[in-house]
Amino acid sequence: MKFDPNWVYFAIFGLLAYMFFTNKDAMPTEKQIDWSDFQRHARENVFAKMTVNLKENLVLAVVKPEHQRAIFGDTLPVATPNRWTGEMEQPSVKVTLPSADRFSDFYDKTKEQYHIDATVKYEEGGNFWLSLLSSLFPILFIVCIWMFAMRKMGGGAGGIFGVGNTKAQMYDKTSDANKKTTFKDVAGLSEAKQEVEEIVDFLKNPDKYTKLGAKIPTGALLVGPPGTGKTLLAKAVAGEADVPFFSLSGSDFVEMFVGVGASRVRDLFAKAKAKAPCIVFIDEIDAVGRARSRNMAMGGNDERENTLNQLLTEMDGFGTNSGVIILAATNRADILDKALLRAGRFDRQINVDLPELNDRKEIFIVHLRDIKTDETVDTEFLARQTPGFSGADIANVCNEAALIAARNGKDLVQRDDFMNAVDRIVAGLEKKSKITTLEERQTIALHEAGHATLSWKLEHANPLVKVTIVPRGKSLGAAWYMPEERQITTYQQLQDEMCATLGGRAAEELSTGKISTGAANDLEKVTKQAYAMVVYYGMSERLANLNYYDSSGQDWGTFTKPYSDETATLIDEEVKRIIQEQYLRAKEILQLNRDKHKELADMLLEKEVIYSDDLEKIFGKRQWLSRSQEILQQQGLIEPEPEAPSEELKT
Ligand code: ATP
Repeated sequence: MKFDPNWVYFAIFGLLAYMFFTNKDAMPTEKQIDWSDFQRHARENVFAKMTVNLKENLVLAVVKPEHQRAIFGDTLPVATPNRWTGEMEQPSVKVTLPSADRFSDFYDKTKEQYHIDATVKYEEGGNFWLSLLSSLFPILFIVCIWMFAMRKMGGGAGGIFGVGNTKAQMYDKTSDANKKTTFKDVAGLSEAKQEVEEIVDFLKNPDKYTKLGAKIPTGALLVGPPGTGKTLLAKAVAGEADVPFFSLSGSDFVEMFVGVGASRVRDLFAKAKAKAPCIVFIDEIDAVGRARSRNMAMGGNDERENTLNQLLTEMDGFGTNSGVIILAATNRADILDKALLRAGRFDRQINVDLPELNDRKEIFIVHLRDIKTDETVDTEFLARQTPGFSGADIANVCNEAALIAARNGKDLVQRDDFMNAVDRIVAGLEKKSKITTLEERQTIALHEAGHATLSWKLEHANPLVKVTIVPRGKSLGAAWYMPEERQITTYQQLQDEMCATLGGRAAEELSTGKISTGAANDLEKVTKQAYAMVVYYGMSERLANLNYYDSSGQDWGTFTKPYSDETATLIDEEVKRIIQEQYLRAKEILQLNRDKHKELADMLLEKEVIYSDDLEKIFGKRQWLSRSQEILQQQGLIEPEPEAPSEELKT
């Protein structure tokens, strides 16, 4: 049978408790009496032996057998052996003395007179060892409990109670927990997949590369927005590679004890080296790999930095790891320490971006495998309706659609269910029961119609798909657009987007002469965008081509901004100017299309939801004015509604 060290603690604890509680005052053979009774019994010469404890002012007097019944009556105790010495303990009485002197006075005076024949023994104190033990008991008790708790926390052998052991989980050929995920489950991401497939190949056929003199890379970093499939890729590697795979999260290194992080890194690499060739996967590596602080005087996070230093050493120190490949994932490569990213540590950075149209289609195909759909569901259409969605969002849409269909008692999931799921994910749950007054609904309709009108009239604004005044999530109305999937955005595009966003408030002001709180979200978005244009993109007139962004993720703080107070004022002024310009522009365009805007708002009030077809009925084919035409028209130099380039709405 395996020996469990916890039993030792239990045994020590039990023994101490026994000694502590059994050392307490009254023994079973003792009876407590008061001083006057004691004097009376002493004069009657009932005691055979008296032991005086001078320290505690106690007398323990053994009663002669012939007097025992008189003193103890029915409660006469039976003589028992002493548990320490084994001697038989005679029934005794115990008395607390007013003082030790009073006893000796009393004894001296009465001894002769009453012929007392008891032997008297004076003792300096109680049992030294017992009293020492009982005074130490509380401390020993706490130590026992603490050691027991530490053993439990440490979880076994190694280090100081095992706290420094790595928490990595290991998967190998024999463990099939992760075998289920393969590269087939990862849709799209073709470049990223190719890179990690190569890593698997390095480990399977190292000779293929080393015979040409190539070195096997030490690490690859998967970088990308949340939910794009980084962890999924790593799981697929674990499922496909026939080598041991250690998986842990960056936060697993972090602990409240100093030095534990570094010790866990050492332990992880020691275990990995013992199993080489193998793969170590660290998810959310930014928890530990964040850039070390430059200014130690301001106080860095020492423990995390020690952990990072240890990681750097292990990844490319003197004892380079042969056959251990590190895969890591993060959403924030910009804040990682530069030393971690250099070649030799993470040789490869694999970008896992938000999926494009074709990738989204493939992801839909993967996630629709288990969902029973009817023939109305077309993955191409669904992919088009979900721009900006990550793989995780798409998985969520599929699941949500199935739930909606089930709630409506359908046997198969239909296209409508998918559309409802998309709407729900984008804008939140529809809240038809939210009570709004007619006046509020009119304002919302005007607001949403303002957005819709501008998005129809501005060249670079995202084309509108649907607009509603049914409250959803936190908003009272919502408009769906089909964003263009682009990699760079021009100044004109940003301007048009801002103008369309401000269209809601501009419409309220123009139509009712009042403004409302309904535009708060729009204003937040626009202000952030204008600020980014000035500070990050160098897109303002007076601060052209300047960038005040530190891509290393360091916060400049309030006192160390890299610009002067005058520049700060300029930034504020430029942000205000950009927003003001677009607001005026929005009002101008709405003014020019006043009747149609009103018509649209009325239609919205009546139908609650309108689509791009309805807009086309009101405004005609989507057409926009160039900026110069807008100005000319504003000044009355050209007719409103000029012949302008038109284009079909591509949705
Ligand atoms: P985070 O950075 O937030 O940890 P992540 O990039 O690691 O996110 P995953 O956990 O890999 O994201 O993805 C979450 C889920 O999204 C997966 O379990 C999977 O269902 C789905 N998913 C994401 N990308 C894909 C893809 N390319 N193919 C199939 N499913 C995907």
